[in-house]
Amino acid sequence: MFGRLWQLLSHDIGIDLGTVNTLVLVKGKGIVIREPTVVALHKKTRQVLAIGTEAKRMLGRTPAAIAAVRPLRDGVISDFETTEAMLRYFIHKVHENPGSASWRTLLKIPRPRVVVGIPSGVTEVERRAVQDACLSAGAREAYLIEEPMAAAIGAKLPVEAPEGVMIIDIGGGTAEMAVISLGGMVINKSLRVAGDEMDEEIINYMRTRYGMLIGERTAEEVKIEIGSAYPVGKDNLATVVRGRDLSNGLPKSLKVTDAEIREALTPVVSQIITAIQEILEETPPELLTDIVERGIYLAGGGALLRGLDKRIAEETKLPVYVADDPLTTVVRGCGEVLNNLDLLSKVRVTGGLR
Ligand code: ADP
Ligand code: MG
Repeated sequence: MFGRLWQLLSHDIGIDLGTVNTLVLVKGKGIVIREPTVVALHKKTRQVLAIGTEAKRMLGRTPAAIAAVRPLRDGVISDFETTEAMLRYFIHKVHENPGSASWRTLLKIPRPRVVVGIPSGVTEVERRAVQDACLSAGAREAYLIEEPMAAAIGAKLPVEAPEGVMIIDIGGGTAEMAVISLGGMVINKSLRVAGDEMDEEIINYMRTRYGMLIGERTAEEVKIEIGSAYPVGKDNLATVVRGRDLSNGLPKSLKVTDAEIREALTPVVSQIITAIQEILEETPPELLTDIVERGIYLAGGGALLRGLDKRIAEETKLPVYVADDPLTTVVRGCGEVLNNLDLLSKVRVTGGLR
């Protein structure tokens, strides 16, 4: 009874440190934070001015002295100090009483255990850095789990079984793919081509086809509104895009269709499919048989691109499924690991006590 109470007070947390979104889950409570992975800094002093939603509002709107950065943009931690500041901010935000450290110590309430999902391309030094950041932000224990593993667990795939499962997590900066069996990744690939690159292709398309300049945010909106990887059916989609006419610098708006955006997205979708085919070629035959039966699972925001599942299924001749609520798969996987310490010891994770 007391043990349980202590556990609730100690707020064990799972964090999905994504290239676009950071999600935090508290054991027993569910997802409590969903914020963009953006930090606003003073350029000269490197002082952190804002984090998350507040910092994202500043993207593309900052005066010369301030920079709004995405510290994990390409799936690697380009700026450790900023990442650390962000982790600290999110961990403290969950522990809403920062001044309560003393009574916590007095009552011997344990500090939180933290499980963080990190991109699989992260180096050993960067791992160490994330782990240290968690510990110095007040975690008692910090475990790092690779995102494809967390995504597979979040998608409720049997990762511990002697059976091959395939998961593809398409985020903003990276598309992470893995074949998992017996708690480990047998094959994995981290492609630095995903949602951001789709937005860039839309920007390129509007410039070359219509001589029109649009911003990253507009491109993302267009992608979400009418983007697809497979013809959407007989009710074609269209949207009005606003930008600047490159010939005279004046505001311009025009209508684009799903077919045009599908064409724009082709290079990215093709690269993702090629990478999947390469992984399948490298997969040992027994595991491949399992995947043929079970199918490929998609997670991450990119999995929401219309018809991507259908397109991958057509190209690979395998069944493809989108995980439930793909934007939260990784953080729910981290939560599952917090609930099941046995799993924590089975899946290969780095970290532990300070
Ligand atoms: P990360 O894990 O890298 O932080 P997420 O899994 O949170 O990334 O996914 C963010 C990406 O998903 C962004 O590029 C975003 O534009 C894209 N995305 C979100 N919703 C959709 C949608 N409905 N269609 C296509 N892409 C989407
Ligand atoms: Mg992710």
